[in-house]
Amino acid sequence: MHEFRYVAGRLHCERIPIESLVRRHGTPLYVYSERTLREHFQRLDSALAPLDHLVCYALKANSNLAVLRTFADLGAGFDLVSGGELQRVMAAGGDPGRCVFAGVGKSEAEIALALRAGIYCFNAESEPELHRINRVAAGLGVRAPVAVRVNPNVDAHTHAKITTGTYENKFGIAFEEIPAVYARAAKLKHLQLRGIQMHIGSQLTEVKPFRLAVERVAPLARDLANRHGIEFFSIGGGIGIVYQPALASADPKWWRTPAARQILTPATYAAALVSLLQPLGLRVLLEPGRFLVGNAGILVTRVEYVKRTGRKTFVIVDAAMNDLIRPAFYDAYHEIVPARKLTGKARPCDVVGPVCESGDYFAKDRPLPPVKEGDYLALLSAGAYGSVMGSNYNTRPLPAEILVRGAKAGVVRERQPVDAIWSHERLAAWQR
Ligand SMILES: *Cc1c(COP(=O)(O)O)cnc(C)c1O
Repeated sequence: MHEFRYVAGRLHCERIPIESLVRRHGTPLYVYSERTLREHFQRLDSALAPLDHLVCYALKANSNLAVLRTFADLGAGFDLVSGGELQRVMAAGGDPGRCVFAGVGKSEAEIALALRAGIYCFNAESEPELHRINRVAAGLGVRAPVAVRVNPNVDAHTHAKITTGTYENKFGIAFEEIPAVYARAAKLKHLQLRGIQMHIGSQLTEVKPFRLAVERVAPLARDLANRHGIEFFSIGGGIGIVYQPALASADPKWWRTPAARQILTPATYAAALVSLLQPLGLRVLLEPGRFLVGNAGILVTRVEYVKRTGRKTFVIVDAAMNDLIRPAFYDAYHEIVPARKLTGKARPCDVVGPVCESGDYFAKDRPLPPVKEGDYLALLSAGAYGSVMGSNYNTRPLPAEILVRGAKAGVVRERQPVDAIWSHERLAAWQR
């Protein structure tokens, strides 16, 4: 569920009409609903209440400081993948002691930064990494808390670019090798074996792969707790969200339709997993990214031209693949709705951006009501892996971002001034 809906024919975020935001802040514009962020966190957190647990928000999905602050205020931990993300969490007032650090390529500088900040745990992805963490910790005279990421070899049946839990992927250490890896790591003096971690993929819409992976890894976690005294089992992120029908899913009634049964909810997730996890007596960590932010954000764009060529209608908008790359990168579907309800027969349109790439599209052959120049369109479910993947390709400034709470709107990222794009560039000495 989320807080984007039509009231009297105008699309609102909570109590604010989208049109009033674009009049004030221009387009392209990301708009986030604080209430949706909070509700998603609280629904997941309360579904897991029977377990000693910590929800660590995977901030690579959306790392805006205001988003991080919202979750920090709710008591969230954070799942980081770089030193930069750790610095962001601290800048937003998050607690490093509730952070886990994932990723296959942690540098020595990043490991030292995280040790000095006092993070909760490193999630290591290889033995060379364990040795490196041990060495850096020795240099600082501390013991580094570590967990190893186990690859359970379970196919999550999701898009190839977001499946991570099979032996075809670069992530984690093979299930069969884990006991020996822990036995060797236990001999490294500057490591403290604190947990075991897994993450099988992203945008999972069924609970089965999660259940299979937890069933597979739970006995291993128990064994590691007995042998090495680990205290947590992180079951990763990957809970999918509604991309289609995104608008309809704002309505609680939609959640009682048969279509809604295809969606993984916190209740279904918890119902399948709590009984498997509770007997372990370990702390359970979750690392959801998309689930917490995906439906809480939209990207608003202005129609610049409507171009008819042969049999096709192209709706050319002012947002582009540099603002939201998911359709080009993952073949992702984003529902597109007008900021003001339009009447008239829907016709198939290609919604495209101004960037000089044929991959720069948001939708192909999408039925849209008759839109014209100057209309505003919203791409829904754009809160996750949207603005964070933004680039300056074609020297296009990054969009502004707005956080809405009720009838209040705060600018949480200013539109990037165009000269900021080249502000770190220089002419070579011989050109000056
Ligand atoms: C990306 C990632 C997540 C979050 O994935 P979502 O699908 O956004 O929930 C969690 N854990 C790890 C290790 C990741 O790489």
